[in-house]
Amino acid sequence: MTKLRDLPSVEQLLQTQTAAELIARFGRPLTLTAIRSTLDEARARFKLNPEPALPSIDLILAQTESALAAWTKPTLVPVINATGVILHTNLGRAPLSAATIHAMDVVSRGYSNLEYDLEKGTRGSRLIHAESVLQKLTGAESALVVNNNASAVLLVLSALANRKRVIISRSQLVEIGGGFRVPDVMKQSGAKLVEVGTTNKVRLSDYQSAMENPTALIMRVHPSNFKIIGFTEEPELKDIVETAHQAGIFVVDDLGSGALLDTAKYGLAHEPTVQESLSAGVDVVCFSGDKLLGGPQAGIIVGKKVLIDKIKKHPLARAVRADKVCLAGISATLLHYLKDDAEREIPIWKMMSLTLKQVKGRAEAWKNELGQGNVVEGESTVGGGSLPGESFKTYLLSLEVKSPDKFLKKLRKQHPPIIARTENDKVLLDPRTVLPEQEGALLVGLKNALK
Ligand SMILES: *Cc1c(COP(=O)(O)O)cnc(C)c1O
Repeated sequence: MTKLRDLPSVEQLLQTQTAAELIARFGRPLTLTAIRSTLDEARARFKLNPEPALPSIDLILAQTESALAAWTKPTLVPVINATGVILHTNLGRAPLSAATIHAMDVVSRGYSNLEYDLEKGTRGSRLIHAESVLQKLTGAESALVVNNNASAVLLVLSALANRKRVIISRSQLVEIGGGFRVPDVMKQSGAKLVEVGTTNKVRLSDYQSAMENPTALIMRVHPSNFKIIGFTEEPELKDIVETAHQAGIFVVDDLGSGALLDTAKYGLAHEPTVQESLSAGVDVVCFSGDKLLGGPQAGIIVGKKVLIDKIKKHPLARAVRADKVCLAGISATLLHYLKDDAEREIPIWKMMSLTLKQVKGRAEAWKNELGQGNVVEGESTVGGGSLPGESFKTYLLSLEVKSPDKFLKKLRKQHPPIIARTENDKVLLDPRTVLPEQEGALLVGLKNALK
């Protein structure tokens, strides 16, 4: 009769060639843990059902290897975005330009002058690295880069409006996504929220009557992920600024996406640009690094020097500061705009500027390669809480499969996983958001899933 003590011991297992290989690949402590847990499982199984023979040494080691592979598999992996949503927040927003990746790579490999003044040989400031490019690009007096735009808004309000009144239109009390609600963030900063107007209409006079009490700021939030249509009214930004300044009140503009290029050029609605806010006289503008800027995750704050200085000195600035890799990446991305090659180099602008003919050509090449599917007209969107309701014409590869949902699941199991969508029982793949260097892997994955 088989007995539990016939199970191989840890020592026996460790003496095998396979165990030596596992130790070389995964390290001794983790391999030992995996062997022990595999043995524990074998014991537990045997106690439940002593019928079949005990697992062999080979089987135990094979199970150990699977456990080790599962434990050390990265959870964050690249995917192929065939959804046609250019700034897909769930898929990591903006893919980066080659120069941006290079700058981030170089600065990660070794030491850098992050906070070191090479001229003087003394301590320097990390804030200077992106600042001069931002000044040149936007004409702002001063600039600051932090962890993301949510922290930029929190920091600006904490530094400029703690325990003071901040006026905001009811039409702008938005939720951005992931639970980021403007009124909650305002409260978190210690600011006293003063709501004016109604959901659909706010007039200059609404702001004016609220300004009669001592007020720190007027906050404007670009409602970037929804649109109010119909019976609406909102004063021009420059009129709000003029009225506020007459009363000695500052204006802060949370642009969200913060485009530096005009999206209208691509047949989309015009997304307000950073330059426009600044020329309307706004005192502080903040926006994301990884939305329409097309860079790494960051929050960018630009504006008047006196205010930015105050923001830089606030204790929260230290808590939400950008790291060297982010600063290197943001600077490299900004340089594309300065050198006027953003459209050629930044992936999201390249995707937006693809012509219909180019997109159609790629969809047709996929169809030919797969020997099935149809090329159909469709729509791509910007996403990432930018330009709601706006879309580009595109061409899609449409696949007819037995069960579209099962097929999507199969696509997600490929290496790299492929993310697509279904519509009217067809599986749709949009070439616009598939990076050219991923096309080979996409076709391999599609063929696998179609088998
Ligand atoms: C996206 C967005 C934010 C948050 O920006 P993150 O960079 O994602 O933190 C804040 N405000 C507005 C208006 C936004 O659109």
